Amino acid sequence: MSKISLLPDNLINKIAAGEVIERPASVVRELLDNSIDAGASQIDVKVLHGGKKLISISDNGLGMNRGDASLCFERHATSKISSEDDLFNIHTLGFRGEALSSIASVSKVQLITAAEGESSGTKIEIETKQEKMIKDAPPLQGTTIEIRDIFYNTPARRKFLKTIPTELSHIIETVVQKAFAYPGISFTFIHNENELLNVQAAADLKERFTQLYGEELAGEFVEVSKEGVGIKVYGFVSGEDFTRARRSHQTIFVNSRPVKNPTVNHAVYNAYGHSIPKDRHPAYFIFLEIDSKKVDVNVHPAKREVRFEKADDIHRAVGSAVYEALNPASETRTIHTSAPDPSRLKGMPLSYQPERAAGGRTSLADLVKESQTDFFTSGITADVPSYFHIGESFIAAGMNDGLLIIDQHAAHERILYEKFLKKTEVEAEALFLPIRVELPLKEHKIILKNNKVFKGLGLEVEDFGGRNVIVNSMPKELKKADIKSLLLDISADILEEETSGIKGDMDKSSMLDKIAARLACHKSVRGNEPLGNEEIAQMMDDLDKCDEPGKCPHGRPTKLFLSLDDLQKMFKRK
Ligand code: ADP
Ligand code: MG
Repeated sequence: MSKISLLPDNLINKIAAGEVIERPASVVRELLDNSIDAGASQIDVKVLHGGKKLISISDNGLGMNRGDASLCFERHATSKISSEDDLFNIHTLGFRGEALSSIASVSKVQLITAAEGESSGTKIEIETKQEKMIKDAPPLQGTTIEIRDIFYNTPARRKFLKTIPTELSHIIETVVQKAFAYPGISFTFIHNENELLNVQAAADLKERFTQLYGEELAGEFVEVSKEGVGIKVYGFVSGEDFTRARRSHQTIFVNSRPVKNPTVNHAVYNAYGHSIPKDRHPAYFIFLEIDSKKVDVNVHPAKREVRFEKADDIHRAVGSAVYEALNPASETRTIHTSAPDPSRLKGMPLSYQPERAAGGRTSLADLVKESQTDFFTSGITADVPSYFHIGESFIAAGMNDGLLIIDQHAAHERILYEKFLKKTEVEAEALFLPIRVELPLKEHKIILKNNKVFKGLGLEVEDFGGRNVIVNSMPKELKKADIKSLLLDISADILEEETSGIKGDMDKSSMLDKIAARLACHKSVRGNEPLGNEEIAQMMDDLDKCDEPGKCPHGRPTKLFLSLDDLQKMFKRK
């Protein structure tokens, strides 16, 4: 008896659908691609219950005539390519003819469409892939597709859907990315009854950026624009002072298609060099335009990846475009020639005085002598123990029975983290002038959804219409100027947890934990200003009182102790 048999068509379709359609946002992506390929100038997206119940997309594009409409749900039915040559020279977003057939095999579909000049349009209803109903419809040029009950017939997949807010946040990301890549198209986006996006056709990419992210946030970015042979690199990268805790706002568009690409990503990081700390990330939106023959888009079922013919050239082009945007020649010069204000440097440990050491005014030997004098004087005159700074972060203290070294950042994080968790010790400061913060759409939703948890931590945030929130009070330890960056980091934490976690949404206590850790480690409270002796003594005291004084919330050690005994062994005296 032979064991092999050919799979039936409906099963083949479901398998294919598994690759193309992972979640409601994939449906939105495919339908938007189709509307864009059809030349639409207006696209309206409506979604119910995070897309689980309904996804409806209307466009004013070319539409389909009756014949095309009845074919479009067949597998490998496409108007976009017809030969092998076409496959290596793709100018449309779609080309496989897989999306509509995949969608129709895992959901209930209704299509209404008409091409120009037809006397009647077409309405097609698909309840199951086997039952297709074709009717007349009004002859209005364009296409409306409604997708209901995604995965209704594949319960195993339906089970993997996350909560409504999580699915919604994926859809928001998809719509925002498409709107970004096509500034000339007007988009509206409604979830349940709420209009989340309404952008008119923009004159250029910069205007679209501002429409989507708001002026304030767009102001933190530098424009990139460079043209080379066969390649154009443009877009926006965050200024060096606007780094993020996560890689959440990093998008690469290759010929208007959002993709993940390690070559471009690496080139961008390279261009920042050491100007951003190791644990922080730039935000960027990089657009590449390349000859379509030099890039293969047919390498990923959901078209999330591309392959470049000459990755080295791309790396070089992106690297230099971003570097030049970050380092305009004139600015670099002014930074190096400006003389440091000596009063600002006084009392700072050696490592804080790069300008002075480099300026050649004072010899290095003098500086060393001076820093030692400081150290010895403080040791003699003060009645608190003598501490000294090593590098930017460490504090060493000589004790009778050994040497204690503290990582100032880590210690500070631990102290604040426990304070936040115990809540009773958080001193919230009501703001006399509440701060308005404009956030990206997805982050705006996440912050408001969780604002009760923030409130417990002294951070009171309310909706303020549009994409705005208003901050009424915040923990005393935080700097006001830093609040936007903090809200972005917190929402990135929650989003990452919710989208990667198998459990779905985070429970309240791990949420509290995450937020407390984020508040504690934020750059505004890192305390990397050199502390005076009394402040250090206070910090040691606070650290001692912690439940887990030995490590920071991320698990890094806060202190290291070399006992007299250790020292004697190290110096071979024992
Ligand atoms: P692909 O986009 O890869 O060609 P799809 O399954 O997404 O495959 O769509 C099949 C075909 O249906 C497309 O090639 C196009 O001709 C037609 N089509 C789909 N959506 C639209 C639309 N919104 N407007 C006009 N034609 C459409
Ligand atoms: Mg398509």
